[in-house]
Amino acid sequence: MKIYNTLTGKKEEFVPLEEGKVKIYVCGPTVYNLIHIGNARPMVIFDTVRRYFAYKGYDVTYVSNFTDIDDKIIKKANEDGADAAEVATHFIEECNRDMDGLGIGKDMVHPLATQVIPEMIDMIQTLIDKGYAYESNGTVYYRVRKFKCYGKLSGKNIDDLEAGHRDIKVAGEENKEDNLDFVLWKPKKEGEPAWPSPWSDGRPGWHIECSVMAKKYLGDSIDIHAGGEDLIFPHHENEIAQSEAANGVPFAKYWMHNGFLRIVNKEGEFEKMSKSLGNFLTVRDVSEKYPLEVLRFFMLGAHYRNPINFSDELMESAANGLDRIKTCLTKLEELKEKTAGSASDDEKKNLEEADAFRSRFEEAMDDDFNTADAVAAVFDLVKFINTNTDDSSSKEYADSLYEILCSLIGVLGLSTSTGSGELLDEEIEGLINERNEARKNKDFARADEIRDLLIDKGIILEDTRDGVRWKRR
Ligand code: AMP
Ligand code: ZN
Repeated sequence: MKIYNTLTGKKEEFVPLEEGKVKIYVCGPTVYNLIHIGNARPMVIFDTVRRYFAYKGYDVTYVSNFTDIDDKIIKKANEDGADAAEVATHFIEECNRDMDGLGIGKDMVHPLATQVIPEMIDMIQTLIDKGYAYESNGTVYYRVRKFKCYGKLSGKNIDDLEAGHRDIKVAGEENKEDNLDFVLWKPKKEGEPAWPSPWSDGRPGWHIECSVMAKKYLGDSIDIHAGGEDLIFPHHENEIAQSEAANGVPFAKYWMHNGFLRIVNKEGEFEKMSKSLGNFLTVRDVSEKYPLEVLRFFMLGAHYRNPINFSDELMESAANGLDRIKTCLTKLEELKEKTAGSASDDEKKNLEEADAFRSRFEEAMDDDFNTADAVAAVFDLVKFINTNTDDSSSKEYADSLYEILCSLIGVLGLSTSTGSGELLDEEIEGLINERNEARKNKDFARADEIRDLLIDKGIILEDTRDGVRWKRR
């Protein structure tokens, strides 16, 4: 299996640190708003990477954080007259809903920055003790020049960085030894949430949380660290500097970065979707128009390192493609029900041919997770099934084809449910009432369980001022 490693700029054979195991850390969102579909791209991509490793028999540990303390969260809390923790909790819940809709697996850990404050203080102290960090007026900075390999991920040269920084003086950071140094801990300002530390009552910088969460949940050295390509510098460069200086061992063996999801601007050019440009569509916006599974499928239609351009036409084409796959699945389900017997010789030969599509799928995924080619292999398998099955097919044959198709679309994180076993309207409303009751009684576990069950059945819930509305996908 080959992975393009940003650290070396090459496609490399994947060799796990520990045989049969893979440890993956993916930078997650800052939770002050509904996530946009650009933020959803790394979620979908790296969940698919995770699924493929599991399919290949690896024992996968996957960690992706929520940044739940940050300037933007505090700003949003002040605007809303809420506190930062309330804002973060609310948007984590919303993000979990979006991830459910996108088919992001539950088999992963989502730690919060605020849950690892003591561990962050420990790592900062280690960095100070080793001479990689220093305190000045309650702020702790990382001493960038002390870390000899700084720039190894982004390929940036320290002197060029210095030139870029010369005139920049950030208010409150006048006491830095060097303009290149970055913040590990900062003292609170009036009205901000804060935690006690040996240096000041304050809060951690952004970069340290990922170094600490990776260490806590995965260990000092991990197999894969991933995120969007905008994170290469400075975030991932700084994570390497922190983790390798503190732990004394290489941090991540493979660095994977997804390209941007782009959208057309007024001039007709495609540009990165981002909150700051204001050109974003939230996952929730898209869910009003399409099942989120279509958004997932759209994203898998491109190689993850290439940019992907969002448009209604491409979403329509993804919806049609997904429909073709689901129709084939339904056909097989029906055949499985009504046919009998074991596979004929011709059918056995066909099954060998069908298995070649699985090999093509695996070859594509083995080549740096080329989901575009993997999806093409699934389409060809669907075509093959459609032309090589009919009412005279045997049950064994239909079962085997069904198994191949389900296992491949399962790797892509697409549901194998075709809508059979649908809930009746009264059942849905009964469950929604039960969920409301559970929420009233603060039984959030039960409330979430019901929500998940409804999502699994293709029911989209929307919390409005007038109560919960629902619709079928
Ligand atoms: P943020 O909340 O901005 O830190 O972003 C969370 C994740 O989404 C990071 O891995 C970003 O690199 C990624 N991301 C943000 N915008 C885009 C985009 N337009 N396309 C792809 N990935 C993005
Ligand atoms: Zn991170």
